[in-house]
Amino acid sequence: MALIVQKYGGTSVGSVERIEAVADKIAGFRDKGDDIVVVVSAMSGETNRLVALAKEIMDQPTPREMDVLLSTGEQVTIALLCMALEKRGYGAHSFTGGQVRILTDDAHTKARIKEIDSSRIHAQLEQQNVVVVAGFQGVDEVGNITTLGRGGSDTTAVALAAALDADECQIYTDVKGVYTTDPRVVADARLLSTITFEEMLELASLGAKVLQIRSVEFAGKYRVPLRVLSSFEDDPGTLITLEEDSEMEDPSIAGIAFERDEAKLTVTGVPDVPGIAYKVIGPVGEAGIEVDVIVQNVGADGSNDITFTVKRNDSEKARKILQDVCTSLQAREVILDTKICKVSLVGVGMRSHAGIAAKMFKALADESINIQIITTSEIKISVVIEEKYLELAVRALHSAFNLGDPESSHSSK
Ligand code: ASP
Ligand code: MG
Repeated sequence: MALIVQKYGGTSVGSVERIEAVADKIAGFRDKGDDIVVVVSAMSGETNRLVALAKEIMDQPTPREMDVLLSTGEQVTIALLCMALEKRGYGAHSFTGGQVRILTDDAHTKARIKEIDSSRIHAQLEQQNVVVVAGFQGVDEVGNITTLGRGGSDTTAVALAAALDADECQIYTDVKGVYTTDPRVVADARLLSTITFEEMLELASLGAKVLQIRSVEFAGKYRVPLRVLSSFEDDPGTLITLEEDSEMEDPSIAGIAFERDEAKLTVTGVPDVPGIAYKVIGPVGEAGIEVDVIVQNVGADGSNDITFTVKRNDSEKARKILQDVCTSLQAREVILDTKICKVSLVGVGMRSHAGIAAKMFKALADESINIQIITTSEIKISVVIEEKYLELAVRALHSAFNLGDPESSHSSK
């Protein structure tokens, strides 16, 4: 017997039929004797629909009213799911965020959870009821409804699992789990049976959008065993673990992430004096533009080139800012390249396995793919390349590191 927190996302509860199917699934766990706390999202498309309604009235509705509006989506699903469970003869009890008391700060539309009072949940579990909690919402100190940012139900589930000291937090979604890379790009991308929190964070922030990043950070911090799995299939999915699995034969690489919508800016001929990187990057950051990969290099002639990447959407704005910087610093010119992408290899085993970078560069060289920028961290190597080679690069790396081979590293046993 275990205490399990299960989260069902928008597609899993996207229609009455699907809500009934989720109720069947939960019933199966109850029959085994597990205690179940369920967190649900709004029915798929509902939060977007509510956002659109608000936008019809005004471009920037006040955040407080936005939260009152958006929190209604989840309130619908908790009630419907409880009805479906009751129809099957299972006791069920719904709670909004405020009723549990999921206390957050007052940063409307992007609130952070401060504290959870689990007493009402425990009382319901003791009465053998399934507890169904609305994801994505809480209340601030004075009782205003708050929401946690898009995709926030994942974070509700992990936070509840931490507060309840649950045996596992299961995130049911419309994919089978976490893959070595995007299966739409590499047909034999493999479902990982385990991945570490660190790797998951790198993959999530690099563009593999399976879980809200904040929920993964939260799970790592509070040591919540987290599993991502499909609500439509009977498959154990991917377990996100604290430590790497020592039974893995070749634990070096977990997967390959990529980011398409990037652009690269270079300021050339910048004088080589202290403070220059700050003068170039500072104004871009102050304009609220997120700067990603940064390289600075002093050439043999003593002139300095500073290159960095930004989201493609922000690139024109960044170019204009740099043009002014360029003039004031008497640098040579600003070059914008909007046809680039970033591909990253992620794996905790890189720490202890030499030669991974060389192997990566060779695989790209064999395909005649030119590398424009290289950056590394402890468990990640990223390259910036021409966008048209993205798919080719991901496939080449996937096969060079044998990620598709069912016999290798992270596969199910
Ligand atoms: N319903 C919210 C959203 O669509 C929260 C969630 O689904 O996690 O962002
Ligand atoms: Mg979601």
